[in-house]
Amino acid sequence: MSSSPAFRPLPSLAGARAESVPGVKLQKLRRAALDAREAFVREGPVAAVATCDLVTFPYPAQFAFSGAALSPAPYVMMTNRMQVVQFVDREGERRTLLFNPSDYEKGVAAPFYRALRERYGAFVSDKVMSTRHGTVQSHLASLGLTPADVDYIAFDHLHIQDLRGWLGGDGMQAYFPRAKLLVQRAEWEMVKDLHPMQTVWFVPGGAEVPRERVVLLDGDVWLGQGAALLSTPGHTQGNMSLAVATSREVFVVSENGVATECYTPLQSAIPGVRRHAEHMGWEVVLNGNTREDSLDQYSSMVVEKLFAGTSAVEGAFVNFHPSSQLTTHVLAPALSPTIVLPAPNFGDVRPTPSARRAA
Ligand SMILES: [Zn+2]
Repeated sequence: MSSSPAFRPLPSLAGARAESVPGVKLQKLRRAALDAREAFVREGPVAAVATCDLVTFPYPAQFAFSGAALSPAPYVMMTNRMQVVQFVDREGERRTLLFNPSDYEKGVAAPFYRALRERYGAFVSDKVMSTRHGTVQSHLASLGLTPADVDYIAFDHLHIQDLRGWLGGDGMQAYFPRAKLLVQRAEWEMVKDLHPMQTVWFVPGGAEVPRERVVLLDGDVWLGQGAALLSTPGHTQGNMSLAVATSREVFVVSENGVATECYTPLQSAIPGVRRHAEHMGWEVVLNGNTREDSLDQYSSMVVEKLFAGTSAVEGAFVNFHPSSQLTTHVLAPALSPTIVLPAPNFGDVRPTPSARRAA
């Protein structure tokens, strides 16, 4: 494994995470998240962030809102998105991180989506139920970046991911010549030895990449000014969220919720969501396709909610941006998002100086 670059931990969150009683832990996390946010924002904004739509695809409605939504439609539609983040690190270097660069042509090999394709046929699943917006490669080209500009790639978690095309392995040529994978140690260890209840969401062999391309993280990581990866376990054991500060707000991105309103369910117009949250006393509604660590997922969503704060454009909503965004679609009546916030975009993405020197 590669040694960890000079990243800093975020102040005060680690202590709260060590608490074992779930209710106490949540209380400690609430305070810690606000303290960490204050330190994060005080340091100033990120250099640049751009959001790129990748693909719209079906996802079971019962999972999307943990059973809270009342539509008879079996699927919601979600749009996978990638963030291109540029930050100045401790050494004063501008670095480029791709958050959720999904190689979605390969992701359909995960057993869940392979079975869907078998049930509906390739034409229906690939053409009717899916819409391709752009690939990682095409988005980078339109931002003026080459594969050598990418220093790091990271994912909120490794469901449906195949890393081999990006980093090499299994005889595949690496598309990114320099990039390293930033991944939580817990996620990396889990994916090497999956439990039967986890297997359905993972691409077989998808994490078989050269060891020297992998940087293991333990907890929250402050990448550089205005950019951090928050440890938000629950959906998977090594789940992470991207946090990006601009000059006026903090964006938080993950797949813990499928829509911004999942963080303020009393404001949801999706039939059933508000009433169910009220009945259950939930302040957040989980994306619930895994039930591995639901208490942790709930608490992680509260951390995300407090760290993000409110949107600068829609103050009644939390500035949370799903990496898989619930998307209005004719196949999913009554399952449209109540609000879609403007996606994280700030500053100007530029070629990475260290890539030019290395060339
Ligand atoms: Zn997932």
